[in-house]
Amino acid sequence: MKSGSILEVSNLSVHYGELLAVEDISFTIEPGQVVSIIGANGAGKSTVLKSISGLCAASSGSIKFLGEDVTTSKPYHTVAEGIAMVPEGRHIFPRLTVRENLLIGSFTPRARKNSDKNIQKIYELFPILGERCDQFGINLSGGEQQMLAIGRALMSEPKLLLCDEISLGLAPVIIKDIYDKVHEIHNEGISIVLVEQDIKRSLKACDWAYVFLEGKVVLQGSPEDLTEDAVQKAYFGT
Ligand code: ATP
Repeated sequence: MKSGSILEVSNLSVHYGELLAVEDISFTIEPGQVVSIIGANGAGKSTVLKSISGLCAASSGSIKFLGEDVTTSKPYHTVAEGIAMVPEGRHIFPRLTVRENLLIGSFTPRARKNSDKNIQKIYELFPILGERCDQFGINLSGGEQQMLAIGRALMSEPKLLLCDEISLGLAPVIIKDIYDKVHEIHNEGISIVLVEQDIKRSLKACDWAYVFLEGKVVLQGSPEDLTEDAVQKAYFGT
C-alpha cells in the first residue's frame, strides 16, 4: 500500500450470482483527496461503494481502510471505522422528521455522544434543514432530501464520505449548491468519493478520476490530464 493512503482497494471483484459486476479493480485514495468514479449505468460504480461499505461481499481482492483490512467488515463496523455512504436515491425515512432522520446517522457510540453538537453543525452547513427540522422527510424537496441524506451520513463523523450520484434528478442550480457544500465538507478534512455519470461535474470537483466500463477501470488520471473527450471515449468504450 502507498504509505498513508486512507483507502486501498486491491484486485476487487464482486459477483451477483453468476454476474461479474466488478472485475479486478484496484485504486487508492490519499487523505484529503476527492476522487471521482465516472461511468455509465451498470458500470459497477455503486457496487464498488457498497463493497467498501460492507453492503456487498467481495468475491476476491481486498479493501483496506487506514491500513486495516475491512474486506469482510459489516456495515455497522465500517461506519464505526469512519466510512459513511450517501446512497443513490437518498433513501431518507419519509415518515420521520428531518431531526429524526439525522439522529439515525449517529448510531455508533462515539457519534451518539456528539449528536447534539453534530446536528447543529449540519444545520449550519444546510440552514434549510434547521428551518425544517420538525417536518417529515416526505415533505422535503428533492434537493432538501439530498441535503438530508448527506447530513445523515455526516452525523457518523466519517473520515471518508462515499457519495453515490448526489446530483441525480436535481435542477442545475441545486446541483451547484450541493457541490459547493461537498467542497465545504472536503475543506473540513473529510476524504470524498464521488460516483457520477456527469463527466464535466465529476472532473471539476475531484483531484483524481477513475473511469469505469463494464466493471473495470479503463482510464484514470488527474482532471488536468484527462480531457473530457478522452473520458467520454472511455466511458462509452469507443
Ligand atoms: P447505475 O448508475 O445504474 O447505478 P452503476 O455503475 O452504479 O450503475 P451497479 O449498480 O454497480 O452499476 O451495477 C453493476 C452491474 O451489477 C449491473 O449489471 C447491474 O445490473 C448489476 N447489479 C447491481 N445490483 C444488483 C443486484 N442487487 N442483483 C443483481 N445484479 C445487480
